[in-house]
Amino acid sequence: MLIAKTISEVNSYLQKQQNHKIGLVPTMGALHQGHISLIKRASSECDRVIVSIFVNPLQFAPTEDLKQYPRQLETDSQLCEALGVDLIFAPTPETMGITGDTDTQSLTTMVIPPVSMTSGLCGKYRHGHFQGVATIVTKLLNIIRPDCAYFGQKDAQQLAIISSLVSDLKLPVKIVGCPIIREESGLALSSRNQYLTSTEKTQATIIYRSLKQAAISFYQGEKQAHILTKIVKEKLATVSEIKTQYVELVNTITLQPLETVETTGLLAVAAYLGNTRLIDNIILRQPIVAIDGPAGAGKSTVTRRVAEKLGLLYLDTGAMYRAVTWLVMNSGIDVNAQDRIADLVKGVKIDLIPSKSPELPVGVYVNEQEVTTAIRTPEVTANVSTIAAQSAVREELVAIQQSYGETGGIIAEGRDIGTNVFPDAELKIFLTASVAERAKRRMLDLQNQGYKDLDLAQLETEIQQRDEKDSNRAIAPLKQAEDAVELITDDLAIQEVIDKIVQLYLSLNHL
Ligand code: AMP
Repeated sequence: MLIAKTISEVNSYLQKQQNHKIGLVPTMGALHQGHISLIKRASSECDRVIVSIFVNPLQFAPTEDLKQYPRQLETDSQLCEALGVDLIFAPTPETMGITGDTDTQSLTTMVIPPVSMTSGLCGKYRHGHFQGVATIVTKLLNIIRPDCAYFGQKDAQQLAIISSLVSDLKLPVKIVGCPIIREESGLALSSRNQYLTSTEKTQATIIYRSLKQAAISFYQGEKQAHILTKIVKEKLATVSEIKTQYVELVNTITLQPLETVETTGLLAVAAYLGNTRLIDNIILRQPIVAIDGPAGAGKSTVTRRVAEKLGLLYLDTGAMYRAVTWLVMNSGIDVNAQDRIADLVKGVKIDLIPSKSPELPVGVYVNEQEVTTAIRTPEVTANVSTIAAQSAVREELVAIQQSYGETGGIIAEGRDIGTNVFPDAELKIFLTASVAERAKRRMLDLQNQGYKDLDLAQLETEIQQRDEKDSNRAIAPLKQAEDAVELITDDLAIQEVIDKIVQLYLSLNHL
């Protein structure tokens, strides 16, 4: 691992990395599990990972903790090295164009996010903070020129502002938001937690507990912002040492205050405990359930039935890949013509209309044309895996699936739903069964279809090979999310599996 202090060192490193996908994790150091989760996510998606460590003077007000902020480059470097980070960029303020203690903001070009995004939440109390953040992040993106940059949902306002900055300024980078990492007590990890005594750390847990309380009311049907924020404020008030600065409920993307949460909302808190300022938030939305697992574990039947039972939309990702396959074939394009397919799929519109009963497939429309039955022909079936293995198709469809996920209330099954498509799904299930059991089920299936003289050992070998292929393929490999609940279904009837998942879903309310 290299440690670069200057831009020219970064440049000479980058010159050797052409054709490699670069991921950037911007931090202020004092790394903890929250940062580690960002680094791990970047490693899983990129060929090279660069971590920047820079305590940015531009984002601290004169009264804030710039001098006191923990600096521990040595331990941070060891941690990064152990995580397989390729380069740390640890510039001085001068390298980043920030000079002395004078009011740099008035001497240099600044990036000013829209007032509508900085006038509420933390921006109301930390004047100039987000200008400082936006300016430094723009500089980092220009210096490193990463393909992807990773930010934590912990700083939700920052994430929303950076996402809109990148989109407004047409910067060629994908911003990836990552879920909040918490201590077991629920306290969101933060470098500033180092300032807390152990008593304060216990007191601070009220912050997440109060957000959870509001989330439970939301799950139970409460949509009014003033009631949801009141729940949080009242709960916070039960710990007298906590001095609440704000509790706000806003649109997750525009950050505009909401009166009611129709689909989704960001419920955010800032509070002081002694001199330490803590922030936390929770996204309110109907939960997402992600079901992953190997072939033959019964995922699609279970998912369909759970969807019906819980009133969730069954996001039939398989149907989406079939729809694209149909579109390719109907356009007369060879299924291996990756470039033409990449063009065809750009901006494709796929709509899924929930079916009236779990026995019926969801209605599927591609570019407004209904293809519900057309995508089930043997020709489409024969070609769908070739199409689904193409990265352009995958990227486009994952983006569509994620846009369905923005409002929550969906269930999806596949191989990488909980790890890649919806890494922040509220409930992740890894549905599996032993090879022997799946072979037995497959044999029964085939016998029911009239096949005779089947060889169980042969079926077992086939399933084993399929598992290996699914787990090792480059695109969307089968992987169990760390926070998934594993359900081994060898000794369970389908109804029992469904009941277990429904139970897990309902107990989300009581987390
Ligand atoms: P900082 O070093 O505090 O500027 O944070 C660097 C990045 O790590 C930001 O994108 C933060 O949102 C992210 N981050 C900090 N704490 C957490 C956490 N507990 N969970 C997830 N991401 C975090």
